[in-house]
Amino acid sequence: MKNGFTTAILHSDLEAPIEHFSVHKPMHAAVAFGYPDSRELAKVFKGEAAGYAYGRQGNPTTAALESKVSKMEDGIATACFATGMAAIASTFVALLRAGDHVVSSSFLFGNTNSLFGTFNTWGAEISFVDPTDVDNVARAIRPNTRMVFVETIANPRTQIADLTRIGELCVEHNLIYVVDNTMTSPYLYRPKKDQASLVINSLTKYIGGHGNALGGAVTDTGLYDWTKYSNIYDNYKNARPAMWGIQQIRKKGLRDVGATLAAEPAHRIATGAETLALRIEKSSGNALALARFLAGHPKVTKVYYPGLDDHPQHKLAGELFKCYGALMSIELADGIDCFDFLNRLELVISSSHLGDNRTLAIPIAQTIYWEMGAARRAEMGIAESLIRLSIGIEDTDDLLGDFRQALEKS
Ligand SMILES: *Cc1c(COP(=O)(O)O)cnc(C)c1O
Repeated sequence: MKNGFTTAILHSDLEAPIEHFSVHKPMHAAVAFGYPDSRELAKVFKGEAAGYAYGRQGNPTTAALESKVSKMEDGIATACFATGMAAIASTFVALLRAGDHVVSSSFLFGNTNSLFGTFNTWGAEISFVDPTDVDNVARAIRPNTRMVFVETIANPRTQIADLTRIGELCVEHNLIYVVDNTMTSPYLYRPKKDQASLVINSLTKYIGGHGNALGGAVTDTGLYDWTKYSNIYDNYKNARPAMWGIQQIRKKGLRDVGATLAAEPAHRIATGAETLALRIEKSSGNALALARFLAGHPKVTKVYYPGLDDHPQHKLAGELFKCYGALMSIELADGIDCFDFLNRLELVISSSHLGDNRTLAIPIAQTIYWEMGAARRAEMGIAESLIRLSIGIEDTDDLLGDFRQALEKS
């Protein structure tokens, strides 16, 4: 990145010739693109010329966001999708075949966990391991393992994967290393520095930041050698080898599946991304202050937050990330009903989202992790009384005050 993080995001639209000198990339709603020379259209289809063929494969507004995300992640190319889940599903659909094996973190976003269960029924087997220790990942590798998938800070219990060592292991075994960077965002952590091959972000969360647009992205860091990957289809070997992976993800995932990010949400996300650094600094500062307050409160029995000294990966988090992020989970003292407590919060909103400017809270076992059942919840370390908090950018005193009054009344 030529400039600092925020400067690069703010000024990237002006690097390409932009219509009417507008400072934002305009919103291009056209589905079709007409070519005065029909030969040019054929070239675009074959990938011999740059351009757009049909809105499902991309549009200029989304392409501008893709280049912003590539800058943020220091990648060589990005494909955007309608949601974060579409980005994950498309990556797997595009790159795996029946008989392949994947090692995944067992501490996963709930819907990713459900999706991986589906792939298991299709013949691509996924093993789940505790990724806080690289040895667990190493033990799960088999001759047919193609990929390792981890999240940075797990939601909701905030376990932190052994990201550096897992990266080294993947290089050693020539495995595609996929890091879901949603919880940290490229401002707190760049998976490329730990040798990630592909970085996934749910743009819906911190990057968009305002709870008004869904989106997802897959970024190729340029580190994986696709000529060594047996699942690249011959017709996609026309581009230079560095582009084989992302081209196959675009073709199989975006074009064939069709979970396209439209221009309007892409524009909203691009605008939100301009303040990513400012928002995360503020929400992470709030989170640290609140975690310390809650950890010292007699009615709170447990606070899971990487910024606290007693977090099992506190030191690792300090080494890996710029700060400790804005997500935490808490358990309340016996006898306090978590629903009653949430209803007493006046400012904090009961909501399933995270990464918003507003502070949001949700009881996990009864909502997001309800479908998987008590046994899998226990395996993932999810207590029945666990409450997840996504901390926003409110004024710190207001936030602490709200939790103080709700706990006093509990
Ligand atoms: C929210 C989330 C996703 C899915 O993103 P959507 O945009 O909601 O589809 C994937 N991974 C993680 C870690 C998430 O928090």
